[in-house]
Formats: sequence, C-alpha cells, structure tokens
Amino acid sequence: MFDVRTEIAIAAVLSAVTGASLLYVLRDYPVQLAPSIRRWTAGVLLQAPAWSLYSLQNIAPLWLTTVGAGTLLAWAMANHCQGVRLFVGRPLGPLRFWGPVAVAALVELVFGFLAPDGRLNVVLFSSIFVVQAIWASVALFRPSPLRDRSHLLTGAMFTTLAVVMTMRIVYEALRHGSLPSLVADSPMQVLVFALSAAASSAASLGFVLMCNDRLNRELEWYATIDALTGINNRRTLGEQAAFAIAAAHRLRRPLCLLLVDADHFKRVNDVYGHAAGDEALQMIAAALQSTLRGGDLLGRLGGEEFVVVLPDAEETAGRATAERLRLAVENIEFALQHRRIELRVSIGLAVIDDNDDFNELLRRADQAMYAAKRAGRNRVCGPSDLTQGPVVVTANFGEPADRERRPL
Ligand code: GH3
Ligand code: MG
Ligand code: MG
Repeated sequence: MFDVRTEIAIAAVLSAVTGASLLYVLRDYPVQLAPSIRRWTAGVLLQAPAWSLYSLQNIAPLWLTTVGAGTLLAWAMANHCQGVRLFVGRPLGPLRFWGPVAVAALVELVFGFLAPDGRLNVVLFSSIFVVQAIWASVALFRPSPLRDRSHLLTGAMFTTLAVVMTMRIVYEALRHGSLPSLVADSPMQVLVFALSAAASSAASLGFVLMCNDRLNRELEWYATIDALTGINNRRTLGEQAAFAIAAAHRLRRPLCLLLVDADHFKRVNDVYGHAAGDEALQMIAAALQSTLRGGDLLGRLGGEEFVVVLPDAEETAGRATAERLRLAVENIEFALQHRRIELRVSIGLAVIDDNDDFNELLRRADQAMYAAKRAGRNRVCGPSDLTQGPVVVTANFGEPADRERRPL
C-alpha cells in the first residue's frame, strides 16, 4: 500500500523544513559551535534537493535523478559526518570528506547513467553510505568524559542508517534480477526509505540536543569553577563547605578551615604585570591542589585568597597540612625575564566549634591569617596563636585593623 515515490517526496519536505528550522536558530548558538552546526545544517539542506530529485525518477532527466541526486545525497552525508566530527574535535580530512562524494558521483555516472546497472548501482552507492555512517558513529560512540546521552542517540541513528543500508546491499546482491527503478515498490524499498527518513530526522534532533548539552556543560562549568585557576569558585566552595561542616556537626567529627592569602601579591602585578600575576595565581592553585588529599576541599575565595576545608582534621593535622601547603607554594619555580619570582603565602587556620557555620569559620581563619601577616608573613597561624595573646607585632604593615568580609 506504500508508494515509494511519495515516501521519498515526504522525506524531501521533512529535510527542507528541518534545514530551514536549523538555519533560523543557527545564529543563536555561540561561535565555538558554529562550524559543526553549519555543516550539519548544510547536510540537511542538501538532503532536500537530493530526495526531491530521487522522487522525480522517470520524470526529470536521467542524469539529474542519478548523478545529480546521488552526488547531492553523498555530499549531504559528508556534511552530516563532518558536522559530528567537528563537534567532537576530530574533523575528517579533505580526502575522507570529498572521496566518498567523488566515488558516489562516479558510481552514479557509470552505473546510473552511462551503462545503467541497478544492482551494482545500489550495492556500490549504499556501501559509500555505510562507510560514512560508520565514520560518524565511531566519532559519537567514542568514550569521553564529554560524551552525553545525546551523542549516543545521534550515533544510534547513524548506526541505524548503516544497518539499513547493509541490509539493502545484501538484499540487492542476492535478489533475482536488479532493481527495476529506484522508486519501484517493494518491502525493502519501503523499509529503506522510511527508516532513512526517520533516522535522519532523529539524528537532527540528537544533534541539536548535543549542542544544548554542550552549552549546559559550559554554563555549569562557569557557574561552579573559577575561570582563571580551574578550581572551585566562591559559590561552589561555600556550598561544599556548608555540606562538610554540617556533616562534621552531625557526626561530631573535627574539621579545619584554612584561609590562604598570597603575600605581597600586589608587587607581583606591579613589577611583572597582571598577566604574570594571573599565571602566578594559577600556579599557586595548582600547587595547593596537588598537595591536598582526595576528600579535602579547595576554592578561590576571590583575588589572591584561597580557602581549604579539611574534613576530619584536628588542629595538629590541620597545621601540618597548612605547613605542607605553605612549603608547596614556596617551592614553586616561577621565573620571568630570567628572574625567579618568589611566591609566598600566609595561612590562617580555624578549627570547628559547636554551631560554627562557614562564615564564622572563615571569620576566625581570617583573624588567624592576619596574625600570620603581622608576624612576618610566609607562615601558618591557628587558634592557639590567637589565644596566647596577640602575635608580636613588630611593625605596622598598614593593614586595616578589621577588614570587612562579605558573607557568601
Ligand atoms: P598582603 O601580603 O598583605 O596580602 O599583600 P598583597 O599585596 O597580597 O595584598 P593586597 O590585598 O594589597 O593586594 C592583593 C593584590 O592581588 C591586588 C590585586 O592586584 C591582586 N589580585 C587580585 N586578584 C587578582 C587576579 O585575578 N589577577 C591578578 N593578576 N592579580 C590579582
Ligand atoms: Mg588578600
Ligand atoms: Mg595578599
């Protein structure tokens, strides 16, 4: 009851509408996704005239419905394939992009137009399609931490195309006599075109979902990570610290919070420039991160200040960790213009007390950190230093007595 010509015409309309829709929303996607979305959209838009020409079999001139349609369809598939390959950062080279298009054109020219042979034409043309679909599937199924479910959905659609085309190859190779016409009705014909059209539409849906998933990942990254240093930002740190503090209260476990402030950091900027200052901050963050254990929390509070939360650590353990952090920063090898830039930090330590929340711990760590600054910098100060009376102040470094700290 199916009419293959109508089925192909519907596929053409579907491609045209999908392509136009993609073209309409294309500019709203950020520039880093533009190359792959453009490729994909080009692929969908090329499908429309390709399917249209197929549906005009025995109506339009033969060269158009064979060489024209076949070349356009292989070119469309090359664009689809390149769209996903660009998306995953593994673009096809010119040979793998244009090679299948050229072979498809040649196959259609020889076995579709000059010396028509339905069987060879279908078998060879479908084989090109299978290869292209496999190249796209492989790129999408490749295990990667950035692989979303939408990659698998799109990959499954390409695999479906590859399977359908393989079935077609086997069927046409084994059948009696060759396919009388590309629009001839047969269960295999109906299946091939219906599944191809459905898989193409679903693949476009999958591709758009892939783009959105990628954007969501980026937004999530910017919302949680400090863009300069790649460690937790203030907001994430506050959330994770609150969680750790609540757990410490509930389980009656100790916890230390360290406030790490780079010493005389303004000088680094003044002498070597802001870019060098940025690099120094990245190195400090990396040194802190590599010194900490798995369960410890690290974040950038802002400027040249970092916070470390050490769950399950008593004051002695907290001090030991703080001292290791201080040394790790002291040992950073950072040289510019053949001059070593010495990086140092002062660390204030606070130990959890009943009813402490993050801001209260931070306030006490801040006090301890300022005690460390006053005592000469490049050192660790904790609660015992504060309770043993004020740290000997030998010089006034011009620090404001009580700075205001904005609560998180
Ligand atoms: P102290 O030892 O008393 O902490 O002295 P300091 O110079 O480190 O402290 P101060 O608060 O006076 O200056 C902090 C400097 O950190 C000022 C600012 O230029 C620099 N800074 C803050 N954030 C950044 C940043 O993201 N990049 C760079 N390059 N510098 C930053
Ligand atoms: Mg500071
Ligand atoms: Mg500082």
